[in-house]
Amino acid sequence: MKAAVFKSVGTPLVVEDVAEPIPGPEELVIAVRACGICGTDLHWTEHHNTDGAWRPLATGGILGHEFAGEVVEVGGETNGGFKVGEAICALPFVSCGRCAACMAGRFYRCSSVDTRATPTLPGAYAEFTRVGLASAIRLPEGVDYRMGALVEPLAVGLAAAERATLQAGSTILIMGAGPVGLSVALWCRHLGARQVVVSDLVGARASRAADFGATEFIDASVETVSDRLHIVCGGPPDVVFDCVGVAGTMQQAIEVVANDGCVVVAGLCMGTDSIVPAIAVVKAIDLRFTMCYEKRHFEVIVELLGNGRLDVAQLITGSVGFDTFCDRFESLKCAGPDLKVMLEPAGT
Ligand SMILES: [Zn+2]
Ligand SMILES: [Zn+2]
Repeated sequence: MKAAVFKSVGTPLVVEDVAEPIPGPEELVIAVRACGICGTDLHWTEHHNTDGAWRPLATGGILGHEFAGEVVEVGGETNGGFKVGEAICALPFVSCGRCAACMAGRFYRCSSVDTRATPTLPGAYAEFTRVGLASAIRLPEGVDYRMGALVEPLAVGLAAAERATLQAGSTILIMGAGPVGLSVALWCRHLGARQVVVSDLVGARASRAADFGATEFIDASVETVSDRLHIVCGGPPDVVFDCVGVAGTMQQAIEVVANDGCVVVAGLCMGTDSIVPAIAVVKAIDLRFTMCYEKRHFEVIVELLGNGRLDVAQLITGSVGFDTFCDRFESLKCAGPDLKVMLEPAGT
């Protein structure tokens, strides 16, 4: 089968013929119909991992963790009720399905979890991929594969929004208008925020933020964020989400949040960063980090998509087949107008 294969840091992925996956006893194999290109993957192929903060990619690794597809094979006798031909999305893990963490839907905490892009669990930038039964979620009628592939990034946003002490009427600042920031904006509106202000250094992202529930947009390249917040929110925001994750943004979040407020760090800063703890201490802020979602996040998003209660089609700004995938992957490394670009393997 065709797959986009990682060769070395700083070089483009290469589409190659690789072995087709064989399902384990509690696994499915799906034909990947859509897989979103994620910023994490872009960074991962560029990062030399000098500080040990992030697992290095092995040569021959296959990325891709935001996917949906059609079941083509069911392994073993325990099929979990899944049948060939069904449409599913899945959490990107294969885990034991039985330990306390798995029972709680927190597969990433399973002691035997396999995550994507490892030698034992290739990702979904491929024609086919393996899926753990416990991780699979059936897509209801009306939720197409592209929508199914958006469930993962939407779950990242929902899990981040839940990390905040957010109440009906809260005022929110979201730093960064990429897919994660916009997903957080959507959920903050859903959860009852009064003001959802999104800031970004790229002013052209303003209209997109409005599509996802932002009440205001601040072009941080020309405006002072705290000044505008005073005008829009009447003071500093109750909650600040750092969805940028480069050195310095956590400190900016601490500086701009209200006294006794909450900062949620969702951005993945790969290098060393520093903060001034005294500012956080004097403000008595709650500083939290967020990384992963649980199965219930996927389930609720799939249900809301099925009921037509989430309008997220505008998150998808492009679609490619394998013929242009590697070039598009490289071009996305420069911040531009794109949000989520999908690999659709059947497109070629
Ligand atoms: Zn992702
Ligand atoms: Zn487990």
